[in-house]
Amino acid sequence: MELYLHIPFCVKKCGYCDFLSFPADAGVQRRYVEALFREMEQWKEPCRGYEVSTVFVGGGTPSLLEAEWMAEIFDGIRQNFCLAGEAEITIEANPGTLTRKKLDIYKHAGINRLSLGLQSSDNRELAVLGRIHTWEQFLESYRLARESGFQNINVDLMSALPGQSMASWLCTLRRVTELEPEHISAYSLILEEGTPFYERYGHQEEKGNRVPDGLSLADGNEALSGISLPDEDTEREMYHRTEEFLKGCGYERYEISNYAKKGRECRHNTGYWTGVPYLGLGLGAASLWEGRRFSNVRELSGYLNGRTTDRDSLQILTEQDRQEEFFYLGLRMVRGVPLAQFEEQFRRQAEEIYSGVIQKHIRDGTVIVEDGCLRLTSLGMDVSNYVMADFLQG
Ligand code: SF4
Repeated sequence: MELYLHIPFCVKKCGYCDFLSFPADAGVQRRYVEALFREMEQWKEPCRGYEVSTVFVGGGTPSLLEAEWMAEIFDGIRQNFCLAGEAEITIEANPGTLTRKKLDIYKHAGINRLSLGLQSSDNRELAVLGRIHTWEQFLESYRLARESGFQNINVDLMSALPGQSMASWLCTLRRVTELEPEHISAYSLILEEGTPFYERYGHQEEKGNRVPDGLSLADGNEALSGISLPDEDTEREMYHRTEEFLKGCGYERYEISNYAKKGRECRHNTGYWTGVPYLGLGLGAASLWEGRRFSNVRELSGYLNGRTTDRDSLQILTEQDRQEEFFYLGLRMVRGVPLAQFEEQFRRQAEEIYSGVIQKHIRDGTVIVEDGCLRLTSLGMDVSNYVMADFLQG
């Protein structure tokens, strides 16, 4: 099994972010850590007999918490769960919130993978996104992490940003690959409803048009006014050039938006895409556990007062749900969906259930069967949401 812990606190909210995250004072953060301990204790008995192969502490900005509290959280994990000796243990961290002391404490607590949220190496783009750090602060955090002995680092990047040109995106890729992190996540900006970015740019996308209309930013920063999203062609080109560029630097794409040096694929996320059960602890955290999906409550006061699972979220997975997930999530992986494994798991051939869909997409050139796996082609990757949705049986 895998374990996810959600730390919802951030210095301030980025303009594009719809994650469950917000600023909070130290008193609230401490009460949250105590609520996490209580939740861990609740799961001690049900998890007896399971070995935890990966832990991922995400957010929010987990590195905002006092490092000593993070060490206590890891003591709690070890007291309540059986952690595998070679477990992959990741923490998300943002530049501007890391110090050498924090990193040393993380290392000592057994954290062996660091995921740094950078997004861009261009300080102007970082300012537009509302990030709290500069490229120079990222460089300092990265240097400190290496000095503390972290040998497995991911850097999160984001393309198709307002005002971003192809040259600027390639500059970010070049500067980051020169540092040789083991893993790079490269997503395109998505305009999520309810965010300031959606308010500002959403109507451009609805019209299928990401071309400038000279809107000014909601924060009133005149220096940034008139900045627009790259058009759709540039966005697509950025996506394609990313794979090409990273491949040339020794990073293989193993999932739609994730690249790694050989053997450095993220084990935790690969588990999500291949149906490994996981338990999510903390505010709003989702779980896939013993054939059920459920999430925790999303209201901080409820969680601090001992409410954990949101009963309305409980979904008992049917055989059909599990088959759909096998394809829907598995197709994200570049290696594709292993057909023999499907047959072994469901005692039916995938071709029998999905014959029409598979044939249609093979004809369209969006999927291919190779080495016993059904996988997206390059064209299929471009329209992955549309292809994956077809594997939902209705
Ligand atoms: S740091 Fe991450 S989680 Fe926090 S507001 Fe920004 S994007 Fe959201």
